[in-house]
Amino acid sequence: MEKTRPLYEGKAKILWETDDPGLMVQEFKNDATAFDGTKHEVIDGKGKLNNTISSHLFDLLNGNGVRTHFSEKISETEMVVERLDMLRVEVVVRNIAAGSMVRRLGVEEGTTFDPPIVEFYLKDDALHDPILSEEHVRALGLASPEQVEEMKRRALEVNRLLGEFLLERGIRLVDFKLEFGTRDGELVLGDEISPDTCRFHDASSGEIMDKDRFRQDLGGFLEAYNEVLSRVSS
Ligand code: C5P
Repeated sequence: MEKTRPLYEGKAKILWETDDPGLMVQEFKNDATAFDGTKHEVIDGKGKLNNTISSHLFDLLNGNGVRTHFSEKISETEMVVERLDMLRVEVVVRNIAAGSMVRRLGVEEGTTFDPPIVEFYLKDDALHDPILSEEHVRALGLASPEQVEEMKRRALEVNRLLGEFLLERGIRLVDFKLEFGTRDGELVLGDEISPDTCRFHDASSGEIMDKDRFRQDLGGFLEAYNEVLSRVSS
């Protein structure tokens, strides 16, 4: 399989077409962005870390009956993925209040949600990815009622599997974002699962081990991502 042309370049990744119409190469870049791209830095080594962490976590999900687009890691910064028709929604699962939920609703940071909360957001940078109700998702034709239910079910299953796996390695899964696509009518988990798209806190010290280190200028970014990698690969 050979990479042919870049189909889509986002803030943190490039998706390449290949000579196999069913497969793509997902390349992880070193760019770190936040606040709708207004904060931007290039952090050498970030792409390699996110590719490796994502590969481990997709492997875990594939091995536990959650179908993902991940096929194999082929280089330090690249993985082969199945080609999907992506839905224009982001699915966020929250176990503990942080980030936009705290800002938007005034919930106290650190509040635990049991059961966890599943939210939908429109994937639209120009509109700043607004939150959607399930009715919005259906009315805007972003997903069918069955797909909405299936995304919720799968997101909670991912939360359970990742949450248990990470806690055994001393990491608390605070929240995360997933993106789904379809292939032959079936819903498949796409995108990435990394400290860029999840909030990870050390289970004993509470230390932040994710992109909030970049968002909040906390320093120790690569150290934190390296620590996540060493724990998920153990
Ligand atoms: O910003 P917010 O608190 O809503 O983010 C919730 C979770 O979703 C965080 O883990 C964040 O990293 C992730 N997220 C993401 N991409 C976005 C929005 C949120 O990965 N566009």
